[in-house]
Amino acid sequence: MNILIFGPQASGKGTQAHILAGKLGLFYLSTGDLFRKLSEKDSKVKRVVEKGELPSDELAFSLLKRFIKDEHGSYQNIIFDGFPRNVNQYLMLKRWFYKNKSKIDYAILLDISDEEAIRRLSARRVCSDCKEIFNLITNPSKNPKVCDKCGGELVQREDDKPEAIEKRLSLYRNVTKPLIDVFEKEGVLKKVNGEQPIEDISRELLSFFGKQ
Ligand code: AMP
Repeated sequence: MNILIFGPQASGKGTQAHILAGKLGLFYLSTGDLFRKLSEKDSKVKRVVEKGELPSDELAFSLLKRFIKDEHGSYQNIIFDGFPRNVNQYLMLKRWFYKNKSKIDYAILLDISDEEAIRRLSARRVCSDCKEIFNLITNPSKNPKVCDKCGGELVQREDDKPEAIEKRLSLYRNVTKPLIDVFEKEGVLKKVNGEQPIEDISRELLSFFGKQ
C-alpha cells in the first residue's frame, strides 16, 4: 500500500506520516527533508527553500526517485510527505508507478485553516543537531530552547519566518489545493480534521487502516 499525506504547512503531515510509517510498516519519504539535505551543499537550492519557494518539479522528482531506488528498492509500502506539491508532480509519480506496476492507494488530507497554520508555523522549533521537531504550542519540549531528545539547541527554520510563511501558504492555496479535486475523482481521498490533538488524528487514521 502506498499513501500520500498532504495539507497546509504545519498541518502535522510529518508527525502523522511517521506514526503511520511505524504502525503500518511503511517507508517514510519527505521531499522537504531531501531538499534540506541538498541545501547543505547547494547554495542555490538553499536560497529557494529558505524563501519558502518551490524548486523545480524535475529536481523534486529526481531526488525522490533516487531516494526510493537507493534506500528502499521497491515501489510498494511507501508514505510520501511533501510530494506531490502540484498536479504535475502527481502525474509524474503516477506514470512512474504505473510503469512499475504500482499505484497510489490513498491520499490523506490533513485540513487546517490558514490562521491555525500561521499560529503553528510561528511556534515550530527544530533541533539543530538531531532535527527533531517541536512546537511551542502543540508539542513543546521541557525547555523551549533545548531538545528533549538529544540536548541540542532548538531553532526556528528560515522558512518558518513570517515572509516565507505567507509565500508557502499562498503556494499551498494556488498550487497544491487543486490536488484535492484530482484525488476525489480518483477515489483515493481521505480527509481528516488536522486541528484535533495529535493522538486523536492518529487514532482516526489508524482505525481507517484497521489498526489501533
Ligand atoms: P516541507 O518540509 O515539506 O515543508 O518542505 C520544505 C521546502 O522544501 C518547501 O518549501 C520547498 O522549498 C521544498 N520542497 C519540499 N517538497 C517539495 C516538492 N515536492 N517540490 C518542490 N519543492 C519541494
